[in-house]
Amino acid sequence: VGIGKESLFIECLESVCLALSENKDRLDKLDSIGGDGDCGSTLYAGSQAILTEIDSLAEMNHSQSLLKIASIVERVMGGASGALYSLFLTAAAGQLDTPCVPRSWVEALSRGVESVAKYGGASPGDRTMLDALHPTVHYLYNSSTINSNAIQSAVQLCNEGANATKGMCARAGRASYVSQDLLRDEDPGAVAVSIWFNAIGRVLAK
Ligand code: ADP
Ligand code: MG
Ligand code: MG
Repeated sequence: VGIGKESLFIECLESVCLALSENKDRLDKLDSIGGDGDCGSTLYAGSQAILTEIDSLAEMNHSQSLLKIASIVERVMGGASGALYSLFLTAAAGQLDTPCVPRSWVEALSRGVESVAKYGGASPGDRTMLDALHPTVHYLYNSSTINSNAIQSAVQLCNEGANATKGMCARAGRASYVSQDLLRDEDPGAVAVSIWFNAIGRVLAK
């Protein structure tokens, strides 16, 4: 797995932004049930803004580009996703060391997840993006080697985590104010995580 290489990082980033953009309507629709219907539009806006900056992002080291992405996200995305992804990326950027090997990415992701849990105040099981993020990153963190098998297993855990939010009792975000009977589908934020993590998995599997 060569995620430490420049071009692969940009390839992953592009793939993530395209996948999130393609799923705008699906995520808006999921968010319209338990929330305000903007989760897909928000991630679409963030993704498009990142894509317009892709050339300048490719010039920086990975930590600097994560910080720049955090600032783009903070500027163009509103709501819970905007705030939490900005925290996630800022924390990950602060942890990412050079030389940037696969293990560095796992540690950066792990720091990002910690930050989302700390500032967002939610835990796994609360029907949020953490239900997809936490099992995935936890698995990678405990994997002795970060190879393609480990990444494919993590992708599967991520999909299962997003799927498991169906019918979960919401204890954070807007969905915690709506009737439990309405929450039969997945949490949009958790599905968004599975969309971007699958996109990374596809690039790294090549
Ligand atoms: P908003 O409710 O501000 O419109 P978005 O639509 O951008 O937020 O994002 C909604 C998603 O954010 C939810 O589906 C959930 O996954 C995630 N989320 C909301 N609050 C929290 C939180 N406190 N911790 C972690 N994730 C959260
Ligand atoms: Mg919303
Ligand atoms: Mg909103």
